[in-house]
Amino acid sequence: MTAILKNFIGGEWVDGSGVTKNINPSNTNDLVGEYAKADKAQTEKAIAAAKAAFPAWAQSTPQVRYDALNKISTEILARKEELGRLLAREEGKTLPEGIGEVARAGQIFAFFAGEALRLIGEKGASVRPGLDVELTREPVGVVGMITPWNFPIAIPAWKIAPALCYGNTVVFKPAELVPGSGHALAEIITRSGIPAGVFNLVVGSGSVVGQTLLEHPDVAAISFTGSVQTGRKIAQACVLSNPMKKFQLEMGGKNPLVVLDDADLKTAVEVAVNGAYFSTGQRCTASSRLIVTEGIHDRFVAAMAERLSGLSVDDALKAGVHMGPVVDQSQLDQDLRYIKIGQDEGAKLAFGGELLKRENPGHYLQPALFTEANNNMRIAREEIFGPVAAVIRAKNYEEALAISNDTEFGLASGICTTSLKYASHYKRNSESGMVMVNLPTAGVDYHVPFGGRKGSSYGAREQGSYAREFYTTVKTAYTFPG
Ligand code: NAD
Repeated sequence: MTAILKNFIGGEWVDGSGVTKNINPSNTNDLVGEYAKADKAQTEKAIAAAKAAFPAWAQSTPQVRYDALNKISTEILARKEELGRLLAREEGKTLPEGIGEVARAGQIFAFFAGEALRLIGEKGASVRPGLDVELTREPVGVVGMITPWNFPIAIPAWKIAPALCYGNTVVFKPAELVPGSGHALAEIITRSGIPAGVFNLVVGSGSVVGQTLLEHPDVAAISFTGSVQTGRKIAQACVLSNPMKKFQLEMGGKNPLVVLDDADLKTAVEVAVNGAYFSTGQRCTASSRLIVTEGIHDRFVAAMAERLSGLSVDDALKAGVHMGPVVDQSQLDQDLRYIKIGQDEGAKLAFGGELLKRENPGHYLQPALFTEANNNMRIAREEIFGPVAAVIRAKNYEEALAISNDTEFGLASGICTTSLKYASHYKRNSESGMVMVNLPTAGVDYHVPFGGRKGSSYGAREQGSYAREFYTTVKTAYTFPG
């Protein structure tokens, strides 16, 4: 019997009104943990605690915030192996991927520790004689954070760190499937010396905990990452709430990777395999459309099938595994449904797509590669969020670029080419927030903005110093010195 891990509200660990469990997707007989579920009343308490803590935290010195964020970073980095293991067990990323994600979370806290020291306002002369004008940045208030399951430590980190850095208080709701990673991160934050109420953890469902955050008048802003469907509901609720809430949405993608005739074949295959299948394809930035020009198409497809047949799909914690399991049964059902849709639409399954049996019962799926796909098919237009990619043939670069941009999404895009001319043209003309040349579609660095355009994102960018736009509000003050 394991202890039921609690929520953190107003500086105390508290019981919930029910229990939620997380199951290891590599071994569905393995119960990772049990977590107290917060209800509406407890979520309201967390919001009240965050509201009460806000004035003092907003006035805290940059040094105090630097110290807290730095302490969080140090502990995360010191425990990255252990936390990476928990993440891999709970979500199904391979252990190296899990450790990498945790390290990134630690680096993000270190970055925002430094940012706390850099927040200085501007003072200048007014256009009117005799007046001074000052611009200052102030925190927005209580921020509700609603996060997805696929990066359960890094995404909360890139919301919580800037929120605390700029003087906001936080109510954090992790995704239902990954309360363990959220809980571990929260424990570290609670040991950083921040005052009671500044940070609160509420584990629970979107319909109860999430909805309460959206409806509550004392929540000033919502930072959301997740699906487009949920994002639309969040936007609507934030606009209709009274007072209206500030909000930012980071949502899905249908990310293109263009492979040109002049690409280095080996590089292109590594980039495509990593971009489409690592993290089991469960990345918002996954390269799910591989747009390949005529001259390299057949060689690329053959080399991809060969490379995919050598990938090890197994328990995320085993050494040497390339791809872990799908996160749960419902995501697996979705992946299989889309594989069937692709076949019914007339695309050819050139590799994979079969369920796999391993030592322990888990959600193992062979990476699936479609060929003969076109950009009007549902497998090319809708986010699948699994290890399923479609190769789309293009006549030339111009057609590849047009297909690449023909999507409602605009998160990440990539091109494999040895031509500076095409690489430069693609960087300028690709309609996405992040463009990669000879690299997998992803957002790799922790000190620069992460986000998209079109239907993938709404509102201010996350990460890097751009995060300031969301977590602060600008005040303009005029003084007549007399
Ligand atoms: P989801 O939309 O189902 O859930 C995300 C969060 O919203 C969860 O915490 C959930 O409990 C909550 N939620 C659900 N309904 C709600 C409601 N009515 N009110 C308030 N909260 C509610 O997404 P998911 O399945 O957890 O994550 C996968 C999605 O996230 C994919 O579409 C993926 O592309 C996207 N994603 C985007 C980024 C990015 O930065 N652009 C990063 C990672 C994941």
